[in-house]
Amino acid sequence: FSAIGEEREIDRDEFTPGIEPQATWCPGCGDFGVLKALKQAMPEVGRTPDETLLVTGIGCSGKLSSYFESYGFHSIHGRSLPVARAAKLANPGLEVIAAGGDGDGYGIGGNHFMHTARENHDITYIVFNNEIFGLTKGQTSPTSPKGHKSKTQPHGSAKDPVRPMSLSLASGSSYIARTAAVNPNQAKEILIEAIEHDGFAHVDFLTQCPTWNKDAKQYVPYTDVQDSDEFDFDVTDRREAADAMYDAESRLYEGEVLTGRFYVDEERPSYTEEKQATDEMPEAPLAERYLDEDSEWE
Ligand code: SF4
Repeated sequence: FSAIGEEREIDRDEFTPGIEPQATWCPGCGDFGVLKALKQAMPEVGRTPDETLLVTGIGCSGKLSSYFESYGFHSIHGRSLPVARAAKLANPGLEVIAAGGDGDGYGIGGNHFMHTARENHDITYIVFNNEIFGLTKGQTSPTSPKGHKSKTQPHGSAKDPVRPMSLSLASGSSYIARTAAVNPNQAKEILIEAIEHDGFAHVDFLTQCPTWNKDAKQYVPYTDVQDSDEFDFDVTDRREAADAMYDAESRLYEGEVLTGRFYVDEERPSYTEEKQATDEMPEAPLAERYLDEDSEWE
C-alpha cells in the first residue's frame, strides 16, 4: 500500500485482482468494456487501489467490484449511492466510484440517483445501461424500449423508457456523458473526466447484453457528438445540453447511437466543498486524521 496522496507511477495491472470475470459474465457482454475502460482510466487519474472505493449495486454489473482491485462494497439493490455518499462524507480524500445497472440505478435506486445528483456529491456514477435486467434473466427494465417483449411484458412494454441523461440534468448532476462498451477509447477518456470532476459525474454506459437482449443493438455504429459536424452545442449551456441529450435519447430508440459529453458544469461547488467551506467537514482525509494525535476529529 502507498500513503494517500503519494505520487508514483501507477500500472493498470494494480487494479486486477486474482479473479477474472469470465466465469460469471457471458461472452460478448458489454460489462467487460466497462471494466477495461475503468482499469485504463485509473492510472491516468493518478489514484491507486488503496485510494479508491468502488461501491456496486445488484446485477451482473454489481460484480464489477469483485473484478476491480480497490476497496469495494457490494451493496444491495439500488443502494450503491447512499453507501458511496456515506463513504465520501467520512473520508473526503477517498476517490469514490459507484456502479450499477439501469434497473438498479434508474428503477430501484431512482430516488437515490435523483437526490445524489441534486446534492452534487463528489462521486462518479457509472450506470451499465443494457436496456434489460440481465442477472435475473431478461425482464423489462426502466430503459427497455416501448413495445419491448419480455417475460414480464409478454405483449410488449406499454411504458415509455426513462431518459437517463435528461433525468440526470433535471436532478442536478454537474457532469453528464454517454459512452459505449464498444468504444473503449472514448469510454476511457470520459471516465477520466468524470472521476476528475469535482461533483456528481454521471456516465450512462451503453453495455450490450447478448444473452437476454438479443434483439437490442450492439451500439454500433456510434457517433461521438463532439466529433460530428451535425452537432454543435455548448456543453456548459444547460438549455443547449437539454436539447442535445433529449435528441440523443430519442434517437437511441430509432437505432442511432449518439455518445459523448452532454453537460459539464465546473463552476458549481460539490457537496464536500460546500460543507468544508462551513467547517462542518474537515479537509484532511480520514487516515491522516487518525494519525494526527492532536486531531479533534479522532
Ligand atoms: Fe452480461 Fe447479459 Fe450475461 Fe449479464 S446476462 S453477464 S448483462 S450478457
